[in-house]
Amino acid sequence: MWKRISSALLFATSAALAERVELTRPVMGTLARITVETNDPPRAGLAIEQAFARLADLNAKLSDYDPLSELNRNPPRKSRDLQHVLHHAAELRRLTGGAFNHEAGTVIRLWRDARQRGVAPTPAQIEAARTAERKVDLGGIAKGYAAGEALALLRRHGFRRAMVAIAGDICVGDPPAGRPGWRIEVAPGSARRLLELHQSCVSTSGDAEQAFEANGRRYSHIIDPRTGHALTHPIGVTVVARQGIIADALATALSVTGLREDLLRRYHAAAIVWTPESTRESLFELFERARPIRAEQPR
Ligand code: ADP
Ligand code: MG
Repeated sequence: MWKRISSALLFATSAALAERVELTRPVMGTLARITVETNDPPRAGLAIEQAFARLADLNAKLSDYDPLSELNRNPPRKSRDLQHVLHHAAELRRLTGGAFNHEAGTVIRLWRDARQRGVAPTPAQIEAARTAERKVDLGGIAKGYAAGEALALLRRHGFRRAMVAIAGDICVGDPPAGRPGWRIEVAPGSARRLLELHQSCVSTSGDAEQAFEANGRRYSHIIDPRTGHALTHPIGVTVVARQGIIADALATALSVTGLREDLLRRYHAAAIVWTPESTRESLFELFERARPIRAEQPR
């Protein structure tokens, strides 16, 4: 599913002082959009190209879809990127008692195949996969890390007013000129909120798009590794954190555990957790100006 399509979209719009350069490319099985506000569009375009090259580099290291990725080749010496992501994943697995588990790849794959066929696996298949050899899957953490790394690269090139969005995993730097932050609309489950963020990352998980229905049930692409079952209770989670890797991994983790303020505090993160019963917002006081603006109606 980590498709490579060679289409690119480049456009620049004039603002009062600066221009906006924006490029969208397929990366990591989805579309990534990089936006830079600058007085030097040609140089910004080059920096954005390098940021996309960094995303391709991370895909080649962290992808579980690509049989030739570093993760799948499993070399004796791991790159710093792979080590870093594995370290954070292992820490979150420990803190969630295995509700987040990057080594649940066999069960994740079982449910991924089930989704493609539209048929839920049998209890025996689930149990066999749950107890099978561990297989690493970084689908719940890699895109957030990648968004943060691409933003850091732009900053190193002097482009601080920037945004990197890899589908639902978004990192922003300094705000656009004359504004308090980047306006980002998030939609955890059926809730809608407008956030205004700077120097932080936001990830949304549990979106219904990747669910499938069988036997009158709706199965999420997020699974509970402790039972081996896909989530069937609707939940949508948006997490704001300083680092992309944290926002992404926590959004996946809280989709399994529900709202965990202790975890959010541990990682200095804020969350919106939607279920059909309630929408709860937690710890947004950590993020100046990031208080969610309610927007229940699609606009
Ligand atoms: P998306 O890929 O939609 O951005 P997430 O960040 O929520 O979504 O990650 C979902 C992916 O994480 C799944 O496709 C799978 O690869 C992996 N995953 C699913 N359940 C878990 C889990 N409990 N712990 C860790 N990773 C998971
Ligand atoms: Mg995630």
